[in-house]
Amino acid sequence: MLNVTGLETFYGNIQALKGIDLKVDEGSIVTILGANGAGKSTLMKTIIGLLKPKQGEIEFLGKKVTGNRPDQLIRKGIAFVPEGRAMLAEMSVMENLEMGAYHRKDDEVDQDIQQVIKRFPILEERKSQLAGTMSGGQQQMLAIARALLARPKLLLMDEPSMGLAPLIVADIFKMIKDINETGTTILLVEQNARQALKVADYGYVLETGKITAEGKTEELLENPRIAEAYLGG
Ligand code: ATP
Repeated sequence: MLNVTGLETFYGNIQALKGIDLKVDEGSIVTILGANGAGKSTLMKTIIGLLKPKQGEIEFLGKKVTGNRPDQLIRKGIAFVPEGRAMLAEMSVMENLEMGAYHRKDDEVDQDIQQVIKRFPILEERKSQLAGTMSGGQQQMLAIARALLARPKLLLMDEPSMGLAPLIVADIFKMIKDINETGTTILLVEQNARQALKVADYGYVLETGKITAEGKTEELLENPRIAEAYLGG
């Protein structure tokens, strides 16, 4: 579904991505693990069109999308849940959800909003609350719900569990599994390596801008080097 080859991204003279090759098969969950500063967010932002690569190609559903803007990609079926959630804090929960479908011209948006609200009951109770006044976990649920309203084929998630309490983290990972089971392919960036490897089918390890390991998640979980570096030994 997604095929990235030789991707290189720079911030001025600093090279943050040094030739990334990565594939996401339709229907799967793929995770990217890596320490702070490894380049995970840069990779997500390059795929979603927020940063322009200097080299390399991004293909989605067999077509080249390198250099496409985020709004073009969302129309093609790629939605993004950014790190830190990027809620529209001064807008209500309902308005945030409506924003998720801003580009849609079909008449099923209201129906989709009702469905998403059923899936995230916490949002039902808070429809008119300002997003910025909700807890971190609730905002993360809203960010995911909002991305789903784009009806994505591929959902990119940047550290959805960051800064959340363990019980909420468990809910978020359950939600990720559930979204995937209802037909959405997921590319997940996480520092919570253990949970990410449990939920994903395939994983990549990113270190200072390069992929240094990849494989089926059960293999990565058994790799002693990865266990030591990312799973606490
Ligand atoms: P984190 O988990 O901390 O978000 P990350 O793996 O997502 O880390 P990136 O944010 O992609 O890492 O950063 C990759 C490299 O690019 C780091 O060396 C970082 O310092 C550098 N970098 C990131 N953003 C910028 C920027 N706006 N200007 C210059 N350098 C940047």
